[in-house]
Amino acid sequence: MLATDRCHVLEDPWGDHAIPVRFEDPPFSRDVLVAEGPFDAVVAVADRPTLVAALTAEGLGIPYNSPAAVRCCRDKYLARQRFQAAGLPVPNFFRVRVNENPTDAARRAQFPCVLKPLGLSASRGVIRANDAAEFVGAFHRIRAILDSSDVLVLREEHNRFIQVESFIEGREFALEGLITGGRLQVLAIFDKPDPLDGPFFEETIYVTPSRESAETQRMLIQAAGRAVRALGLTHGPVHAELRLNSEGAWVLEVAARPIGGLCARALRFDRGMPLEELILRHAIGEDVSAAKLSGPASGVMMIPIPKGGVYEGVEGVERASTFVEEVVITAKEGQKILPLPEGASYLGFIFARGDSAGEVERALRAAHGELKFKIATALPVMRA
Ligand code: ADP
Repeated sequence: MLATDRCHVLEDPWGDHAIPVRFEDPPFSRDVLVAEGPFDAVVAVADRPTLVAALTAEGLGIPYNSPAAVRCCRDKYLARQRFQAAGLPVPNFFRVRVNENPTDAARRAQFPCVLKPLGLSASRGVIRANDAAEFVGAFHRIRAILDSSDVLVLREEHNRFIQVESFIEGREFALEGLITGGRLQVLAIFDKPDPLDGPFFEETIYVTPSRESAETQRMLIQAAGRAVRALGLTHGPVHAELRLNSEGAWVLEVAARPIGGLCARALRFDRGMPLEELILRHAIGEDVSAAKLSGPASGVMMIPIPKGGVYEGVEGVERASTFVEEVVITAKEGQKILPLPEGASYLGFIFARGDSAGEVERALRAAHGELKFKIATALPVMRA
């Protein structure tokens, strides 16, 4: 049974028999779902519904993360506080109300630093600042994002804050896992081979297995496991982002959901089982502790938006497809597109498999090199 955030007046507009709930009103949504129950399990597939899922699980007495734990995952300030209290390494961090004076806030920052909204995702609104002037510019830019109607409509109190963190140098990784009874089972570690030094932090290539040494991978897994415990997550999928430098492994964040967008297609398990099936099996209590990722290597490229405008089409998909398993263009002709930091989407995804992580990375880059996107400049509407 599916529950989605949509108008309760429309009669099943997508024909999926989904139960209409309101993500901006979790207690109401819980009551609706508990009344529809009993259910054996609950799974949330994005950040926002994790709270509805947690409240519903609590109401029905089925295993899932606690509401307090998922609240921490969705609020970068609460998460950092939990990490700090648990003794995990954290950068210098503080949060500032969005209507505060940025010049005053800049005096408290350690440069270089990163400014970011507390509750958005996909690196939307995450900006590096190297000095006070850049700090103030970044602050105004994030304030405009947080004041935009698509963020205000979410009605999330934490979206009225901006977090400031000192910049953590290093290579970046993503970790996909499942938690059972508070224990983390690692499904995949992805290397992110493109440098992520800012000023914006565009995700591009993810490749697994990691090319790091077994010792380094153990450090990443250990840090993610400590973060899971610090947050109090107990059950379900997790997606963690980490950085690694000479001081060790730093957890950037842990989300109580699987990898986003179409990226899950980069992962296949025994007999070709997709990640979604593995997660559902786990949710209904099957023992999936022996699940193994099918290799030897796979990866995905999230195709970044090179500039803002109106998407008009793409050439070269056929040539690009000769290098890889699949090229999926998700942008629609006529769609207005926005790059980071204001935007939060991709033009599409490229999926590759190969004998080694290096081969997969080269195939993804070769395929991307064939794609020529047509993006028309969107003219501002002039009013007389
Ligand atoms: P989101 O939830 O929007 O993805 P994150 O907090 O994960 O936000 O930040 C997005 C990206 O910004 C990270 O993947 C990382 O590349 C970069 N980033 C965020 N915080 C820091 C930091 N303190 N130091 C260095 N890079 C950071």
